[in-house]
Amino acid sequence: HTIGADLARAIARFGDREALVEAVGGRRWTYAELGRAVDEVALGLLAKGIGKGDRVGIWAPNCPEWVLVQYAAARIGAILVNVNPAYRVHELAYVLRQAGVRLLVSATWHRSSDYRGMIEQVRAETPELREVVYVGDPSWDGLVAAGRAVPHTRLAACEAELSADDPVNIQYTSGTTGFPKGATLSHRNILNNGYWVGETIGYTEHDRVCLPVPFYHCFGMVMGNLGATSHGACIVIPAPSFDPVATLRAVQDERCTSLYGVPTMFIAELDHPDFASYDLTSLRTGIMAGSPCPEEVMKRVVAEMHMAEVSICYGMTETSPVSTQTRRDDDLAHRTATVGRALPHIEVRIVDPVTGATVPRGEPGELCTRGYSVMLGYWQEPARTAEAVDADRWMHTGDLAVMNDDGYVRIVGRIKDMIIRGGENVYPREIEEFLYSHPKIADVQVVGVPDPKYGEEIAACVILRDPQVLLTQEELTEYCRSRLAHFKVPRHLEILDSFPMTVSGKVRKVELRERLAKERG
Ligand code: ATP
Ligand code: MG
Repeated sequence: HTIGADLARAIARFGDREALVEAVGGRRWTYAELGRAVDEVALGLLAKGIGKGDRVGIWAPNCPEWVLVQYAAARIGAILVNVNPAYRVHELAYVLRQAGVRLLVSATWHRSSDYRGMIEQVRAETPELREVVYVGDPSWDGLVAAGRAVPHTRLAACEAELSADDPVNIQYTSGTTGFPKGATLSHRNILNNGYWVGETIGYTEHDRVCLPVPFYHCFGMVMGNLGATSHGACIVIPAPSFDPVATLRAVQDERCTSLYGVPTMFIAELDHPDFASYDLTSLRTGIMAGSPCPEEVMKRVVAEMHMAEVSICYGMTETSPVSTQTRRDDDLAHRTATVGRALPHIEVRIVDPVTGATVPRGEPGELCTRGYSVMLGYWQEPARTAEAVDADRWMHTGDLAVMNDDGYVRIVGRIKDMIIRGGENVYPREIEEFLYSHPKIADVQVVGVPDPKYGEEIAACVILRDPQVLLTQEELTEYCRSRLAHFKVPRHLEILDSFPMTVSGKVRKVELRERLAKERG
């Protein structure tokens, strides 16, 4: 069924249980209250002339209104366009035009982002954009007030016109490897995916899910919001954007049972000097996903954050997003070292990227996936869609993976990140995993840099645990030499304070690689 119908089901079953909590502001909604608030916004959108198939943009940090707009747009058949909160004028104008956004919901200001100022700058080049509504501003109240003139029966009429295969969302990819692409996703795509991710974790109406991950990304809005509401669990918003202390405090104060994050978020929480002063004993589970999850970090999350059942998910925006996930009853070794097995109703196979043939179990190849989760296509980009999704509806992910005899998958890297050194294929991931065990290294990224002799040479970019305690090239070489094949030993060491990141918390390896190449070129 549709997202609206699913929310109605949750309201009928769990009406007086908590559905949404804003930890910093202290606002709270039960399922019944959430349902009424969503209806108000949905009626407001109808009053503004938004209907089935119209694009509603959202460009804001995490806040309860984000969730209201997500469900309200779905309820009336509008297509929500998630706009990355880190965008600046140029990218904003591109996305608004590309998706043909008619109404945009935004925030006035957050951190260094003057959203209102930037929107004013692009108004002239985005004629299709008719209206902008700012959360926490009279224009938001105006939206809700306008809706009061619309009869409630219009909502049921909208619902009757909708099918689960209608598009509900245009989600832009993280832009880790290039310019973001707008994946068009249907109710069936994302509602099922959220449901199965929640089911695999074992969510019930007693769970409270702490979401420091951005809503603009499918990690937040699908695995988080839809994963929670499809099981009657509660969404807890720790802060507008990621903040380790706000997250730890929200887990403690709201007695959260589940916590989400990309690996770098968990590292920031675990390594925070005040980590030990927070009571995290309410946690049982959570999800680490989005980029390679180092085993060391997984083990610490289990031991120090009480997340005994923590799950790893692998997926991408184009597949709603999750394809594989570890399960509660997988043993610790499988839960830390693999990304689990295919979710129910999803097929995964590993193919030779050149011939397209399925490779034998245990051998690396490109991960391809098929099922209800594969996107409708990139918004108005049929050529790029055809490059990614083949005639048999297999999504070619661009990720290199190995599947064992029991169906467990290990991601070994992205095809684009693979280093070819003197003819040997080197997977940065393997070297990173190894270097995480070095006592002086807090975080590490391995990239290829151009080399006259070998084509590419291996560089380790390192964030030190203690900036006062240096690490030398000799030490690093010594550490690696006895335990890594000679062609995998990094020849270059770069000490950095931070890595270039996407808003969804991923390291932009491309940028790191380009920066090093320039410095050395
Ligand atoms: P772009 O496509 O714009 O370059 P992106 O691929 O990072 O950006 P997303 O759709 O947010 O955009 O991320 C999907 C990718 O993230 C996957 O293709 C994979 O490379 C990586 N990824 C996701 N989960 C995991 C995981 N558990 N382990 C390793 N890599 C992961
Ligand atoms: Mg991608």
